[in-house]
Amino acid sequence: MAEIRTRFAPSPTGFLHIGGARTALFNYLFARRHGGKFILRIEDSDRERSTDQFTEAILEGLAWLGLDFDEGPVFQSHRSAYYRKVIDRMLAAGTAYWCFCSSEELDEKRRAAQSEGRAMSYDRRCRDLGRTPAEGEAAVVRLRTPLEGETIVHDLIRGDIVFDNLELDDIVVVRTDGTPTFHLVNVADDIDMGITHVLRGEDHITNTPRQIQIFRALGAKPPVYGHMPLIVGKDRARLSKRHGATSVLAYREAGFLPEATLNYLARLGWSHGDQEIFSRADLVAAFDADAINNSAAAFDMEKFVWVNFEHMKTKSVVELTRAVRPYLAERGFGGYDERYLEAAVVLVRERAKTLVELADQLAPFVGDTIAYDQAAAGKFLGEMDRKRLRELADELDSQLQWNAPGVEREFRSYCEGEGVKLGALAQPARVALTGGTASAGIFEMCAVLGRERTVARIRAACAEAEAGTLTFRAATPPQAG
Ligand code: GLU
Repeated sequence: MAEIRTRFAPSPTGFLHIGGARTALFNYLFARRHGGKFILRIEDSDRERSTDQFTEAILEGLAWLGLDFDEGPVFQSHRSAYYRKVIDRMLAAGTAYWCFCSSEELDEKRRAAQSEGRAMSYDRRCRDLGRTPAEGEAAVVRLRTPLEGETIVHDLIRGDIVFDNLELDDIVVVRTDGTPTFHLVNVADDIDMGITHVLRGEDHITNTPRQIQIFRALGAKPPVYGHMPLIVGKDRARLSKRHGATSVLAYREAGFLPEATLNYLARLGWSHGDQEIFSRADLVAAFDADAINNSAAAFDMEKFVWVNFEHMKTKSVVELTRAVRPYLAERGFGGYDERYLEAAVVLVRERAKTLVELADQLAPFVGDTIAYDQAAAGKFLGEMDRKRLRELADELDSQLQWNAPGVEREFRSYCEGEGVKLGALAQPARVALTGGTASAGIFEMCAVLGRERTVARIRAACAEAEAGTLTFRAATPPQAG
């Protein structure tokens, strides 16, 4: 079999969003699975809407996901000479023709069609004029679509879809300003790049028979198409900002691992038995286009978080520590010892489903100041609590063996001496050390924090609570978006 060649062909008119990333991933996996090539083409021929900033963002998104391409990026904006040749060939062969109808005339016809409740289709008035534009005369180029017969899209995912040629219209392939349209450049490039398979969103389905006609007009064999169902929100409406962030890089910011994002994207509309967790290698080995579902896939944030957590569990401490560093740096935390951070990661990793949550959990270990939960401070750093905490700090300061069992002994013996339950001391200590009421085991935390930090922080918390100078956390944690 000939080499399989797929491509991802984004228009840089926006960020790389979830749907686009899934399209890229499926084309990537299909090529990798079959030992083929995956090509990146930037469809920036619409110069008004395309920006370099979006191109950069798309490249960055792909790089973050590790969707490396074998060829490209090829920029359509650099290829006008090639497109001109393609158009000349079509005009010479008579598979395309010049049309001189003005946009006013066409608008008029469109209005008339609308008022009669018909869909507007071009009446092909110029189809057999057989002339070329005079100097300075405005004209477009249209495709000479067959007037009879059918165009069948043998869709990999949806089976055969039949279109009546008469309904395809003689679409415009070159605008009055001489620029080629999306249909033309998309097909011309697929031919030039030898693309064999195109997986793309189902919003392109009605374009496909028209594009197949352009392939025929150019004497080329169309690729195999597969149109993927939309991604919708839990409410089954098309995925939009309302459902959360749609840009892929926003998920990096929200603390998702690229591997987990790939895994979750793959599962949006594709399945492999009941397996949920896939490494990149698993995906490449298991992927096949015929297992893409043909009904809309629902984006489910909770599930995505769960997938991320599962991937975080597979990471070694060293990997996880490395992965969380940028998130700590973003908060201004840095300069701590590698071993110390790893020990803290071991202690809190189970409590964090994302890297942002992990950074939250690590904050008490690496930050100099703690942000307190106001209610917790009110409840657990009262006068009596502070008295006990200060006495505990003095005891801990002279504690010989600084490890979790040693710290625990100190807590217990203090509580026995005072005749109070362990909780009466442990919870205030937790609040003093972490700012909140939920954390990893308190003795283990002290062990990792070290004597100096533990004692100093307990004393500082007491002093600040007494003086009313504690820093409080924002009432609601900022949301990913
Ligand atoms: N530039 C088009 C898009 O972003 C590409 C369509 C295709 O994959 O053929 O939707």
